[in-house]
Amino acid sequence: MAHTQNRFHGSMDDLEPGLVTVVGLPYDENSSYMRGAALAPPHIREALHSGAANLCAENGIDLAADSRWRDLGDLALAGGLEAFEQIEATVGDLIGRGVRVMALGGDHAITYPIIRAYGPRYENLSILHLDAHPDLYDEIEGNRYSHGCPFARIMEESLVTRLVQVGIRTMNPHQRAQAERFGVEVHEMRDWRPGTAFDFGGPVYLSLDLDVLDPAFAPGTSHHEPGGLSTREVLELIQNLRAPIVGADIVELNPKRDPLGITAMAAAKLLKEVVAGMVES
Ligand code: MN
Ligand code: MN
Repeated sequence: MAHTQNRFHGSMDDLEPGLVTVVGLPYDENSSYMRGAALAPPHIREALHSGAANLCAENGIDLAADSRWRDLGDLALAGGLEAFEQIEATVGDLIGRGVRVMALGGDHAITYPIIRAYGPRYENLSILHLDAHPDLYDEIEGNRYSHGCPFARIMEESLVTRLVQVGIRTMNPHQRAQAERFGVEVHEMRDWRPGTAFDFGGPVYLSLDLDVLDPAFAPGTSHHEPGGLSTREVLELIQNLRAPIVGADIVELNPKRDPLGITAMAAAKLLKEVVAGMVES
């Protein structure tokens, strides 16, 4: 569709089915506490291509020499709810071409329009959601599209079969009630056991909020929540995932709180592992 082609800095021509595409979504208008996540995509790319590291994932796949993925650049987004429509339409267009999406946020609000595109196109879709926060609020300060709400919207619309949350350590009574109401499978951080592996019968969308990591490993996020997973534990979880990953996002990097680029490097590392897993599945 011609109208979508100039939305990217990169091109949507010649996208072969099965390709994994990296798509930047620089949008943080729905952040409730602090802006900055919209600045993240170029920082993640800079870390990915930094001379300090290489593009090899730990499974041996060298993304520098692998044609099964491509970075399409950032989507040029309008403000307000029009951005949601753009995200849903563009992701839907990509899925329609048989392409899988690895989205770079942006804040976590972007996951709702992404899943609006994914849900109807994948039968029996599950979401594996890694986060300090359940993001199940009905609204935050009157905003139903806040980055604290996307999974409430997703579950209300029955866009997925299962929502499995890992790393959660900020449950309050409202969100606990929401989790029960929607049948969310919540693995709270207080019950975490190293080596836990997740099994899914069907396709999985992986939504990775960087604040699932302990702030000691990833200080560059807006909502510091101590007591989280280590970078190694998240890598292990991704590497041991037994399911095809049909789409993913990495959200909530706030470069304003990441002066040494440690969190951007963690995001780039996770990106490499997720993309290397996706091209193999
Ligand atoms: Mn989140
Ligand atoms: Mn979070």
